[in-house]
Amino acid sequence: THLNEDQAAAVNKIVDTFIVSDDRLIKIADQFVREMEKGLDHQGATIAMIPSFVAGRCTGNEKGTFMALDLGGTNLRVCHVTLLGNGEHTIRQQKYVVSEELKTGPMRNLCDFIADCVDSFLTENGTIDSNSTIQLGYTFSFPVLQTSINRGVLKQWTKGFNCSGAVGKDVTILLQDSFRRKNINVNIAAIVNDTVGTLMAYAYKHPETTMGVIMGTGFNASYYEDMSKVKKWTGNTDQEMVINMECGAFDCERRVLPLTVYDNKMDRESINVHQQLYEKMVAGMYLGEITRNALIELIDRQLLFNGESSKDLNKIWSFETAYMSTIEVDETKDLCDTAHILESVLSIPSTTLADRQIVKKLCNAVGVRAARLASCHIAGVLKHTGKVGHECIVAIDGSLFEFYPNFEENMGNALAAILGEQARSKVKFDLARDGSGLGAAIIAMIAAKN
Ligand code: ADP
Repeated sequence: THLNEDQAAAVNKIVDTFIVSDDRLIKIADQFVREMEKGLDHQGATIAMIPSFVAGRCTGNEKGTFMALDLGGTNLRVCHVTLLGNGEHTIRQQKYVVSEELKTGPMRNLCDFIADCVDSFLTENGTIDSNSTIQLGYTFSFPVLQTSINRGVLKQWTKGFNCSGAVGKDVTILLQDSFRRKNINVNIAAIVNDTVGTLMAYAYKHPETTMGVIMGTGFNASYYEDMSKVKKWTGNTDQEMVINMECGAFDCERRVLPLTVYDNKMDRESINVHQQLYEKMVAGMYLGEITRNALIELIDRQLLFNGESSKDLNKIWSFETAYMSTIEVDETKDLCDTAHILESVLSIPSTTLADRQIVKKLCNAVGVRAARLASCHIAGVLKHTGKVGHECIVAIDGSLFEFYPNFEENMGNALAAILGEQARSKVKFDLARDGSGLGAAIIAMIAAKN
């Protein structure tokens, strides 16, 4: 490399703080099991472990036509899904941009916007019989305490959303009111977490799927639980049900997660300070900002970019996680793609090869850590359910998992470090692209049947 001694020493020191040893992974997974069990025992635990009211397994033979909505990621998606049986389906969908103003304004405006999007989708795709009520599955990917398949109270906002008048309210009723006010003949049959939708969508084709995971803007997971093991559950215990873990909240007490000063700075400037710490170390929304904090420190110490930052790089959240992917795969001799991002996109006046190598090292450190930490919740679920060493399919959706270089491989290696090579070889991570629309339709169907 081209780093001088001071640079090398400083960079290595930062990279070291992002290393998670195998021992630490095992401790984190064990703590995860303890927190899962607390969440299953009583309300108000750190990981909420929310029963989804989705019971029983998919067969793939379900049929019918349903609508689905997906709110909680980068876009609002409106979908029209036909389940054909035999694991087959057709889907028509449209994306709508949710503005920052809507994300942080009154909840009523957001609901009216969603209702308007559904209305224009129905108008543009006018094949749906307007005389009968349309059954809709509402994927709402925030922590919701469900009381039935289509009732649930918002606990808190995450991922940059912060609408007023929503926390503590039933989000289905709020949206159903907007449909009613606008005379849109749609019934919200189910409220669905995106991880649960992803699990059900993948299970429609592969009934043996046991976990649904999202690794995109945010990070969360769900799995099948034997309800006789859930002390806080007062319903029928003679069944399996999907549990939405809300595991992004894991270890908010900071017992085991190896938070660095760069994480703490990002957390302090986020809109949900001290919350969702596990999510913040794994999910796409945050990795770039953690990396940016490390870069800025090196700039301030005159060890990077000749001590010169730029207006763009100084801006919080400006260093996107997608840049990290591009930088990590940059194998050009002079790291041209990295130079392009730093100089053309972020307007750093000039960078040396040493600078680019430093940036690449830091991206790698933050990216590898995210993947290794992400494996802990899967190890935790396998340990808790007694399935270590059994065949298991984990359906994963999200751009981070899909596009971040070596993410899957790094997760696999970490899982092997926790559970052993043999147990790791039985676990299959499958990319389940855009499953939440299909999944919500399947769940709407289950709800409409009951
Ligand atoms: P959702 O917002 O529904 O989770 P995605 O799964 O597409 O949608 O996730 C978007 C997030 O993924 C972005 O916030 C970004 O942080 C991250 N991301 C997007 N593209 C990439 C990429 N090429 N490499 C790594 N992360 C990416």
